[in-house]
Amino acid sequence: MNLNTKVTLFFSAIAVSLLAVLVAISLYAFRTFSIASATDHIRSAGELVRVALTESMINGVIDRRESFLKRILEVQGLRSARVVRSPEVERQFGRGLNLESQADAIERQVMASGKPSFGVIEEDGETFFRGTIPYIATAHGTPNCLQCHQVTEGSVLGTVTMTMSIDGLRDKAVLTVGGIAGAVTLFAVLLVLLARRMLRPISNTAAAVEAAVQKALDGDFKTQIEQRTKDEIGQIARDMNRLLAFLDSGLNRIGTSVARLTERPATPGENLLTATIDMVEGLSKAAHFKQAIEEDETKSEIYTRLSSTLQKEFGRQEFSLYEILSHKKQMKSLIVDGRPADGCRWCDPEILVRPEACRVRRTGHPVDGIDNPEICYAFQPPPEVGPRRHVCFPIIQSGAVGSIVQIVCTPDEEKKLHECAPLLQVYLRETAPVLETKRLMENLRDATLRDPMTGLNNRRFLEEYVDTLIAGVQRKRAHAAIMMLDLDFFKMVNDTYGHDAGDTVIKALAGVLKQAVRASDLVIRYGGEEFLIILLDSNAEHACLIGEKIRGEVEAMKVQIGGTVIQKTISIGIADFPGDSATFWQAVKFADLALYQAKETGRNRVIRFTPEMWTTDEDY
Ligand code: GH3
Ligand code: MG
Ligand code: MG
Repeated sequence: MNLNTKVTLFFSAIAVSLLAVLVAISLYAFRTFSIASATDHIRSAGELVRVALTESMINGVIDRRESFLKRILEVQGLRSARVVRSPEVERQFGRGLNLESQADAIERQVMASGKPSFGVIEEDGETFFRGTIPYIATAHGTPNCLQCHQVTEGSVLGTVTMTMSIDGLRDKAVLTVGGIAGAVTLFAVLLVLLARRMLRPISNTAAAVEAAVQKALDGDFKTQIEQRTKDEIGQIARDMNRLLAFLDSGLNRIGTSVARLTERPATPGENLLTATIDMVEGLSKAAHFKQAIEEDETKSEIYTRLSSTLQKEFGRQEFSLYEILSHKKQMKSLIVDGRPADGCRWCDPEILVRPEACRVRRTGHPVDGIDNPEICYAFQPPPEVGPRRHVCFPIIQSGAVGSIVQIVCTPDEEKKLHECAPLLQVYLRETAPVLETKRLMENLRDATLRDPMTGLNNRRFLEEYVDTLIAGVQRKRAHAAIMMLDLDFFKMVNDTYGHDAGDTVIKALAGVLKQAVRASDLVIRYGGEEFLIILLDSNAEHACLIGEKIRGEVEAMKVQIGGTVIQKTISIGIADFPGDSATFWQAVKFADLALYQAKETGRNRVIRFTPEMWTTDEDY
């Protein structure tokens, strides 16, 4: 119910109640007044009749009383008048005229009580006022009643009953009350019209505000409300316009900034507010994502998180994550459709060995297979899955494509994919520097654990790795053989041919050692020309055979330096962990003791540790 209807109803209700009260009061007043005046009228007519009858009695013309009563009717404006004799009078003077002895109920009651009776009565469908007045016998004055009537003083001699029409009075009442009611109604109607007129600016402004708010909810803040008055209502319109203008410019600014961040083009007719909310929500999620991947430990954890974000946040089921292996000029498929990858699913596997075949890798910018389905020849979805579209995004690290995200979808999902692409790129831009940092750190870490000259792991690597190694040996209840190796009279090489020649020999030796063992075994450059080999799942006996093989190969190794060929020999000490010692580092020490023994006993030999070699009381 709007304001106008309410005001109309309110004033109408007031007017109706006012009218009802007024009519009731007027009618009551009229009735009271009419009865009082009619009563007076009948009283005075009654008195007149009494005086006339008394006169007639005294003058002996009482027989003509009937024509007198008729005349009285004409003069007094009465409707009827009659006199009834009381039983005492009848007894003394006879029944009199016909009518005079037929007392009705009211007359009998008045005669009995001696009190007059007045009232409005209805007879034959006519309403009129009736009064019945008793004539009481009195001894006062001369002549008086008791001189002729043989009754006691105070007894009722008879009654006079007169009726008069009250139609005239009623018509007047109806006219007056009708006039008042008409005036009140007119007044009320004018009041309602005035109120409605005064309220019009309020209700119009309210309607305009409502329309403007509805438009704002739909994202349009451009509505302006007409200012109709200069009062508070006008102020509301003005303030509303100011608020709308402020919201519009604010949202436009936020929208532009956010759109710049997400590089999301504005769709014409879109709801600015919901679009902005969506974008801000997206950005906030992307910020959380960045925080999460920054705290991830490895690149592989980051890729896994990116994969589950693609599934959960973007609702993607078909996608691939690739990584470019910079030094090897290869590409690795990491994750396909949310699972660890086993080769390519959506692309020609050639891209793995020849990354240039991948368009994103080659160009460094996104490849949109939706706008341009034939753009990339390497996109080869398996024929059994049906038609597919793809969009591939690069993740740029150190100025080059470091990783690639490929999203695959069915043709009917194209639009959805296009819509989420800007936000996805925000995620990827957040991912890039984090991946880059992790990659650098992994490279750096690798560098600190590796000897640059030979490419073998260094002593520090062993120190970090030893716990894992021991745990593995213990879990499998296996043995690891520890082999300590040191070139014989190596100093001579440096002294004779120079330090560079020495380096060349060390590099050649590293190659021989690496070749002699399995890939799972560890070859460590332990010191200058001292090496440590850990043969996993191998006991000392088996290690002695390998050691002997190495010794032979080193002896046979010929290193060409300029015009000369250098040949060296090597001494090897071997210990068994946990066969010889329950602690790893003590086993290393035992292998070193065996090596010392090999040097002592003529070099170029393999010696297995025996407990007698441990002569000191040193505790390792
Ligand atoms: P032996 O072991 O048989 O007792 O005699 P050795 O002459 O080999 O004696 P030792 O093992 O003590 O000498 C090691 C020498 O190796 C000392 C050092 O000049 C040389 N050396 C250590 N590291 C390098 C290196 O990286 N490059 C070169 N060129 N020489 C190195
Ligand atoms: Mg040495
Ligand atoms: Mg040596």
